[in-house]
Amino acid sequence: MDFRFSPEEERFREEVRQFLDTEVTDEMIEEVERGTEIGIGPHCWELMRRMGKRRWLAPAFPEEYGGMGATRWQQFVLSDEMTYHRAYPLHLCGVGIVGPTLLQYGSEEQKQKYMPPIARGEIEFALGYTEPEAGSDLANLQVKAEKKRDFYVVNGQKVFNTGCHFSQYVWLAARTDPSASKHKGISLLIVDMKTPGITVRPLWVMDGERSNEVFYDDVKVPAGNLVGEENRGFYYILTALAHERSFPVGNLRRTFEDFVDYVKEEGLGKDPLVQQSIAQLATELQALCLLCYRVTWLIQRDTSPHWEAPMVKVYMTEFMGRFSDTAMEIMGPYGQLQAGSKWVPLKGRIEKLYRHAARRNISAGTSEIQRNTIATVGLKLPR
Ligand SMILES: Cc1cc2nc3c(=O)[nH]c(=O)nc-3n(C[C@H](O)[C@H](O)[C@H](O)COP(=O)(O)OP(=O)(O)OC[C@H]3O[C@@H](n4cnc5c(N)ncnc54)[C@H](O)[C@@H]3O)c2cc1C
Repeated sequence: MDFRFSPEEERFREEVRQFLDTEVTDEMIEEVERGTEIGIGPHCWELMRRMGKRRWLAPAFPEEYGGMGATRWQQFVLSDEMTYHRAYPLHLCGVGIVGPTLLQYGSEEQKQKYMPPIARGEIEFALGYTEPEAGSDLANLQVKAEKKRDFYVVNGQKVFNTGCHFSQYVWLAARTDPSASKHKGISLLIVDMKTPGITVRPLWVMDGERSNEVFYDDVKVPAGNLVGEENRGFYYILTALAHERSFPVGNLRRTFEDFVDYVKEEGLGKDPLVQQSIAQLATELQALCLLCYRVTWLIQRDTSPHWEAPMVKVYMTEFMGRFSDTAMEIMGPYGQLQAGSKWVPLKGRIEKLYRHAARRNISAGTSEIQRNTIATVGLKLPR
């Protein structure tokens, strides 16, 4: 088994690396690290557009939809480098989730309308699934979309819809047939956030980032914005979730490397217990990278990683917790200082990761739900 990237992929990585080395500025990193408070800020949009011009934002989109028809491996290399350079504004929903799902289930008109501007870095999508009574049990969602002639009328409340305060569109799950069994009456709609009747209210999360509550009050959505067939939305969401749960991990590699450098510089590395702990983390990080490669390989082969992506999700988010825990223990009280404090090590990235890990175990599906999926879908244990 050969785990190396091909010479062509390595050349592409080098080209991307050189580009990002010069294009990613401190202002941009600061904007990213302030998180979703402002969403994708001006420096991030600018970089996205510059990458879009080179067709690098969504290289795996087919050429006619703004990409380069690149392999998923090239897309992976790119995301990996972007996250390594701390240049990944968010887990870009348009590029990573909406585009690939539209390619599979969207109409030709939708692909033409949304994919090229996504690839040019002009528009972004937010995910509109969760509701107060429907998080883990997504099929229980109650936001209604009633068909009236050539449009749907949407009513109800969503919660934790993170990107809604800066995205141009929301990828909305709504109930279109209340009489059908709960998995079968759901549809997926593309909703323009400027449509009258939408109210977005902030929800602040423990890592300092912003999510939202979103209220829909008689919101009219053109019938042409239905993705795929009516009432089949739940099944499309399963595909979209598999794409969502396959994360790049360049940022974790980078933070780990920085942490190892810090341990060396501060003379902490002689302690055998410190060495043991860091060696354990290095092993886990390597295992995580290999799990990510496997998911990319499956997507490249047109196989939806329905239970392999949950392995990445659960392993990655729990690794974040173990890493930040261990690192804070090794750093001592300094490790608890927040970004901006005078004596803060590593710009407070470890402390932020500690809070971020707790939230990441929940968003995009909790660890318990990932394990349920691995057990029942992957290992065919009884539901
Ligand atoms: C910061 C943040 C950002 C988010 N962003 C988005 C977004 O952009 N768009 C969006 O649609 N959603 C988003 N979410 C929502 C997220 O997907 C849900 O919070 C998550 O799926 C859990 O749902 P819940 O909060 O309703 O918890 P619940 O479903 O009420 O779960 C509560 C607890 O019970 C456990 N549990 C529930 N069911 C089971 C079961 N069957 N077996 C074992 N344990 C179970 C859970 O693991 C959890 O520990 C976000 C959440 C957070 C915190």
